[in-house]
Amino acid sequence: MLKIENLRAEVGGTEILKGLSLDIGAGEIHAIMGPNGAGKSTLSYVLGGRPGYEVTGGSVTFDGQDLLDLEPHERAAAGLFLGFQYPVEIPGVSNVQFLREAANAQRKARGQNPLSGGEFLKLAKEKAGLLKMDMEMMKRAVNVGFSGGEKKRAEMVQMGILDPKFAVLDETDSGLDIDALRVVGDGINAIMRESGKGVLLITHYQRLLDYVKPDFVHVLAKGAIVKTGGPELAAQLENEGYEAVAA
Ligand code: ADP
Ligand code: MG
Repeated sequence: MLKIENLRAEVGGTEILKGLSLDIGAGEIHAIMGPNGAGKSTLSYVLGGRPGYEVTGGSVTFDGQDLLDLEPHERAAAGLFLGFQYPVEIPGVSNVQFLREAANAQRKARGQNPLSGGEFLKLAKEKAGLLKMDMEMMKRAVNVGFSGGEKKRAEMVQMGILDPKFAVLDETDSGLDIDALRVVGDGINAIMRESGKGVLLITHYQRLLDYVKPDFVHVLAKGAIVKTGGPELAAQLENEGYEAVAA
């Protein structure tokens, strides 16, 4: 599904990813853990095609296509979803408007008919319900005045509506209290895992992985994957720290 080989990337002239390789099969859930500044967010930005993140070596194929050759919107149309560590606020545009535009732009790129207002609302209600987000919040401006947990929930509703084949979620657990963590974890399971879709979960902490059980856990340090294991590796990292486990 997603195959990353020897990926190298620079930001502002500094090499951050230094030969990173990762192979994620269809329907698999992989977690990446690693210390601050290791390059985790850089990896998600490079996969999304964010300007300023320059790939200097290696390759990424997604569903058999050369991902790095695609524009960001083409990556989304191909079925890649990116969740961000710091979701943006969009004053003056409601979640409903934004999501309907996004869903229909994506449908157009895939050669599908746009959803009518009624069809879209039905879909939005269903996905918002999975994330325990009420429709009043969906009518508010995107992320404006949302708490950290509400932003992450809104992002998961967005993921449900866009229905990607594969999602890269960067620190979706940051800023969540225990209840919100459970709601978001259940949401990821309902939207992605139960329909056999792949996820790359980037996280600092093991706690999200108690809800969304990964098939593999990788440690990213200094721009490369330095260790891979099963869920027990996450527990070991939490107990012993990165230095001890991945030095
Ligand atoms: P992580 O998400 O693992 O904490 P990041 O990918 O955010 O790490 O950052 C990796 C490294 O890249 C850090 O040392 C950070 O300072 C550096 N970095 C990130 N963005 C920029 C930038 N725009 N210009 C220069 N360095 C950057
Ligand atoms: Mg980060």
